[in-house]
Amino acid sequence: MARGARPKKADWSEGTSKKKQAGVSDMTMLSKITNEAINENLKMRFHNADIYTYIGNVLISVNPFKDLGIYTPEVLKSYENKNRMELAPHVYAIAEGAFRNMIAYSENQCVIISGESGAGKTEAAKKIMEYIAAVSGGNSSSIKEIKGMVLATNPLLESFGCAKTLRNNNSSRHGKYLEIQFNAGGEPVGAVITNYLLEKGRVVGQIRNERNFHIFYQFAKATSQEYRDKYGVSGPESYLYTSAAGCLDVPNIDDTKDYADTLKAMDVIGITPAEQDDIHRMLATILWLGNVQFVENDEGNSQITDPNITQFIAYLLEVNPEMVDKVLVSRTIETSRGGRRGSVYDVPLNIAQAQATRDGLSKAIYDRLFNWIVMRVNKAMQARAESNYIIGVLDIYGFEIFEQNSFEQLCINYVNEKLQQIFIELTLKAEQEEYVREQIKWTPIDYFNNKVVCDLIEIKRPPGIFAAMNDACATAHADPKAADQSLSQRLTACSHSRHFEQFDGSFTIKHYAGDVTYSISGMTDKNKDQLMRDHLELCKSSANGFLQGLFPEDLTQDSKKRPPTASDRIKVSANELVTKLMQSQPSYIRTIKPNENKSPSEFDDKRVLHQVKYLGLCENIRIRRAGFAYRQTFEKFVERFYLLSPQTSYAGDFIWTGDSKAACIQVLKDTGIGAEEWQIGTTKAFIRHPETIWALENQREQ
Ligand code: ATP
Ligand code: MG
Repeated sequence: MARGARPKKADWSEGTSKKKQAGVSDMTMLSKITNEAINENLKMRFHNADIYTYIGNVLISVNPFKDLGIYTPEVLKSYENKNRMELAPHVYAIAEGAFRNMIAYSENQCVIISGESGAGKTEAAKKIMEYIAAVSGGNSSSIKEIKGMVLATNPLLESFGCAKTLRNNNSSRHGKYLEIQFNAGGEPVGAVITNYLLEKGRVVGQIRNERNFHIFYQFAKATSQEYRDKYGVSGPESYLYTSAAGCLDVPNIDDTKDYADTLKAMDVIGITPAEQDDIHRMLATILWLGNVQFVENDEGNSQITDPNITQFIAYLLEVNPEMVDKVLVSRTIETSRGGRRGSVYDVPLNIAQAQATRDGLSKAIYDRLFNWIVMRVNKAMQARAESNYIIGVLDIYGFEIFEQNSFEQLCINYVNEKLQQIFIELTLKAEQEEYVREQIKWTPIDYFNNKVVCDLIEIKRPPGIFAAMNDACATAHADPKAADQSLSQRLTACSHSRHFEQFDGSFTIKHYAGDVTYSISGMTDKNKDQLMRDHLELCKSSANGFLQGLFPEDLTQDSKKRPPTASDRIKVSANELVTKLMQSQPSYIRTIKPNENKSPSEFDDKRVLHQVKYLGLCENIRIRRAGFAYRQTFEKFVERFYLLSPQTSYAGDFIWTGDSKAACIQVLKDTGIGAEEWQIGTTKAFIRHPETIWALENQREQ
C-alpha cells in the first residue's frame, strides 16, 4: 500500500498470527481521561504483549523485558511507506514518520526518547537507527559504509559508556545525540555524535553489586594472549576497580561475545590496529592504577606499597618510573607573590589524598579516552557529500534516584528536567500558544511546568544550585571539606524555592519525576573537576604519542580565568542541545518501566501510575484531543498539495496568482474534506485528524 493510503485498522502480525489488540492503541480514544484509565489501558496492552501505544504522534513504550519477536526484517519492512494508523503502534512507525516527513517537508527531524533508567530508551534508539539504515536508499559503497559505521557505534559506545547498575544491566552512563545526515535524495551521507558528560567516577569505584564500564570486563575476561603478555592483563577478579563492588558477571551479558563485537565495531569504524593497541594500553593502565596501594611511613605520609606495580604503570604509560611514584605520593605546590610565580614545593600526601590523586589520574585518562573514541568515530563518519537534512536521535541517561545521590545524579536528573521542559514547551505550551496566536478557538488546559525546577538548578541570579557550587569551589582551596561547608552555606540562597529543601549535609530537589535527596559531601570537588598539573605533566612527558594526544593542554599558559567546572559544561551542552532540538521537528518516545525487577510479567500499578503522572500523559491526551494533529504554513501546505485543486494546478504546474493563504483555502475546499476538519489561522492551516492529512496524501499520490 502506498504512503498516504486511507487508514485501515491492521496489525503488524497480520498474516502471521492474528492477534486481537487489547485496549485502545491511541489513548486519545480513551472514553475517560484519567491517570487510572491510562494505567489500565497500558496494563491490558502489556499483558497482551502490545507494548506500544500512541497519544497522537507520541509513542508510549512499556519495557517488555523479553524478546517479543517484533523487530524482525519482515515486521520492519511492513512499516515502510505506511502511515501511523495503518499498522499497530511501533517504534518503527515513529522512525518511518520522521524519515518521510524529512523528505516530504524538507525539515530536519529529531526523535526525543525519555524515561527513567531501565525503561528502554537505548533499545528504542537502536531500533530507530536500524530502521533508518534499512529503509533509506543508496547502494553505493560509501553510503553502505556510513550505515555500517552508524550501526557499529552502538556496540562500541555501549562497551565504553554503559555499565551494570542496580536499575539496569546495560545502563547508559553518558548522554548521546546522534545526528544522521542525508543528501537531498534521503540517502545517509554522514553522521555526528555529541557526547554528554560521562559518569567517570564509575571508573574508580561503584556501589555494591554494580559494575565498572562493560569494556573492562570484556578486556579482562576475553582479550588476546598478546595483550595479556604485553599489558599484564588477567581476569577482572585481579583488579580492585573491577572487583571491589562484588559483581563480575551480569545475567544475559556475555562479555566474551561482546568483546568480539567491540573489536569488530572498531574495525568497521576504521580504528587502526595501532590505535586499538593504544586504547588497550590505556585500559590496562587504569586497571593497574587501581591496584596501587599506600601505607603510612614514619612521618605519617603515604608510601607506595608495591613499587613493582608503579614500575609497570610507568612502562605502560611510557614515562619515567620515578615520576609516577612522585605524582602519586606528593603534590607540587607553587607559591605566587603579587601575581608572579614564586617557588615550587613538593608537599607529601597522606593516604586519603594519595588515593584521591591516583583515582583522579584514572578518571582523567578514561574520560579523555572516551572522548577520543567519540572524536575518532565522528572523524570516520564525516559527511561524504553535501548534507541537506538531519535526523537526530537522543538517548540519554534516564532520571535516577539512588539511596545515595551525588553530583552525577544531579547532572543526570538536570538533563532529564531539560528534556521534560522541551516536551512541555513544544507539546503543551507552544501548542496552546500557537492556537491563540493563530486565532484558533481554544479553551486553555492546565499543566505543571517544570521550568521552575530547571531555573532552581541552572539560574545565575539569584544563585541557583550550580552557581552556588561554582562559588564554593572558587573560594575553597585544596580542602574538599571546607568546600562542602561553603556549599552548604551558599545553598541557603535557594531555600526560597518550593522545590528545594536543605538539611544538614544534604538537600532535596522536588524534581518533576520525584523527590531526590543529594548528599553534599564531595560535590564541590566533583564540580571543580580540575585536572592536576602534576598529572598533566606526567602524561605530557610520555613517549607515547596517543597518551600525549589525550592531554593537549598547554602547560605554559597560566590562565587567570576560572576554568569551566563540570556543571558549567553540562549546563552549556544541555542548553545547546535544547536549541538544536527546538530547531527540528520532534517525535517523542516516552518509555515506561513496568516494574523494578526486570520482570516480563509484573505490572506494578503504583510505579506505572507514578510515571504516567509525571510524564504528563493526561494533559498530553487532553490537548491532543481538543487540538489539531496537523499544522503547516500556507506556503508549505500549498507547495505540497496544490495538485489537488484545478484552481491551483494545471497539467502539474502551479498556476495560482493570488496569495498562499487564499490558495490554501481553495485547495482545502476543493478536496471536499468536511469544514469541521480544518481551520485557517493567521499563517498556518490546521487539520484536526491525521486520517484527513493521509487522505490528502493519498489523493496527491494519485
Ligand atoms: P538507562 O537510562 O539506564 O540507560 P534505558 O532506558 O536506556 O536505561 P535500556 O537499556 O534501553 O534502558 O533497557 C533496559 C533493558 O530492558 C534492556 O537491556 C533490555 O533487556 C530490556 N528492554 C528494553 N527495551 C526492550 C524491548 N523493546 N524489547 C525487549 N527488551 C527490552
Ligand atoms: Mg540507556
